[in-house]
Amino acid sequence: MGKEKMKILLVRPPRIKQAVTLGEFMYAEPIGLEIVYGVLKDLYEIRILDLMIAGEDFEKTCETFSPDVVGITSLCIDVNKVKEIARRAKMVKREVITVAGGTQAYLRPQSFFDEHIDHVFQYTTRKNLEALYSCLAKGEAPPLIDGVLSKVYNYQSTGVFGRNEYIVPDRTSTTQYRKHYSYLGFKPCAIMQTSLGCSKNCDFCLRWRIEGAKEQDIDLECIIKQIQDIDEPSIMIFDNDFLNNKERLERFCDLLEARKVQKNFICYASVKSICSHPDTIKRVAQNGLKAVLVGYETFNQEEMVKYKKKSTVADSYKAAQILNEIGVDCWASFMLHPDWDRNDFKSFRRYIKKLKPEISTFSPLTPFRNLPLYESYKDRLLFEESDYESWSFGKVSVKPSKMTLRQYYGEVLKVILFINLRMNSVPYMMKRFGVSTLLRIGIGSIKVLPTYIKLMMKS
Ligand code: SF4
Repeated sequence: MGKEKMKILLVRPPRIKQAVTLGEFMYAEPIGLEIVYGVLKDLYEIRILDLMIAGEDFEKTCETFSPDVVGITSLCIDVNKVKEIARRAKMVKREVITVAGGTQAYLRPQSFFDEHIDHVFQYTTRKNLEALYSCLAKGEAPPLIDGVLSKVYNYQSTGVFGRNEYIVPDRTSTTQYRKHYSYLGFKPCAIMQTSLGCSKNCDFCLRWRIEGAKEQDIDLECIIKQIQDIDEPSIMIFDNDFLNNKERLERFCDLLEARKVQKNFICYASVKSICSHPDTIKRVAQNGLKAVLVGYETFNQEEMVKYKKKSTVADSYKAAQILNEIGVDCWASFMLHPDWDRNDFKSFRRYIKKLKPEISTFSPLTPFRNLPLYESYKDRLLFEESDYESWSFGKVSVKPSKMTLRQYYGEVLKVILFINLRMNSVPYMMKRFGVSTLLRIGIGSIKVLPTYIKLMMKS
């Protein structure tokens, strides 16, 4: 295989229907694939196929483009889809080389040890990408490479454990899809990361375990340059806690103002950060911050301690008030604990009512395999570890202790109705997202009800 002729098709699997109400309105760009594209584009013929966008045909693309390598990214629930895509790729062209990567490959690479998958990228760096693909282009068997688990070595690696390197994505690689990428009502919307890791180290959280227990901030000049290059009017900054560092935020605003950059920003932030420097957050709002996704998690202070949250329930009220006064929307997320009884669910609904976020979402506590929580709840798990598609954030995965599963799902349904009918304000959504998105959200919310009713009846 001549180096200049090697063709690589990078694929994002189609979306798996999840029992999450607002998830359907988040079509983020496949940034991991854009990063791989950026590293390899000058060396090989490379293309991204986003199967999450309707209308794409995998077999047809394989036939017309005829890739030598098919690389597939993954989320935790995507394992079976990735294996299926690898199998289908080999059906079209037997000698095609298949590569799996993404979040699940980092957390449980062994999920992809499969007859149809040749290499698994546990983490991605410039060096390991270039090393593997250069061997593939030359038709050589690769040596052991850090972070790459190859079938020829029985999926062994060098044993060096690393993390994903920060690499600027090449957003031109998804030009044909970009108009579809959205984040709730913001469409088109790009995503970007300005910092990796999180020092809050909440017990239930996978992200700091993947990215590191301390923030690793990327140079702001590099960030502003990316923002200036992004065509979309809105950008979701998916750092774990973008509002974490006061000095950095001030410098961020200085640069936006000096370069006259105007965008809408949405970000994740912790309660602790919001409470720490409200004046700076106000300045970020003057520079385009429109909404913040805040993990309030629970109404119960004891649970906050158990979750190792670095803030209290009282702080959550304070953060809600600060955002309200600054005029930044709050999109709140909560976790339903499997030990809640009916009264806890009632207290939870009262808590949301007092916090008054513009949008609320929730998920039952989900103890993923790599979390210490997994050990605590091992005996109460309702799914096998290999039942990947059930490990979405929407399903109850831990057997409730104070009521039957059916009763618990009944309470979950009540929460859905409460949030959709009482809390998620129609005028707000109309103003923020427009009538057509509101209709889509409304239809999506209605569509999710039968899913939960079915889950309840099956319990
Ligand atoms: S603040 Fe958010 S990202 Fe950071 S550890 Fe806690 S849940 Fe994870």
